Amino acid sequence: MRSHLATIFLVLLVFQSNALSQECAQTIEGNDLIQYNLSEIRVDPDCEEFTLTLRHTGQLPANIMGHNWVLTTSADYMPVASSAQAVGAPNYLPENDPRIIAATNMIGGGQESSVTFNISALEQSEDYTYFCSFPGHNVLMNGRLIVE
Ligand code: ZN
Repeated sequence: MRSHLATIFLVLLVFQSNALSQECAQTIEGNDLIQYNLSEIRVDPDCEEFTLTLRHTGQLPANIMGHNWVLTTSADYMPVASSAQAVGAPNYLPENDPRIIAATNMIGGGQESSVTFNISALEQSEDYTYFCSFPGHNVLMNGRLIVE
């Protein structure tokens, strides 16, 4: 837990001088080793909207090493991950699925995608999971989103 907080703190420091830095925004990176650089994201419930930016720091294209950032409740996470694989290329994500709270585009190395969503729709008592819906990636690329 302490190392997670230290990681988040470092990331915040890095982006402090950046114009992208706001309390209600977070950048997460995905790489060619099927990893996110954050296993936990904390969101201030006072934020009306939250903007998540996914940056693919790898070099492989989206059809081989695609990454996205999909947010669901933790209860919906595995069912949505399964139906995403059934949808297939290129997005690997069901359209207009009410279980999906937010999702970026599927991107490849060097690309970036952002999504802005309402925090007011989230419950502090609920457990939320984010993941990459590219086939097989959710096993390694997942994390918790905590509203507090
Ligand atoms: Zn991925």
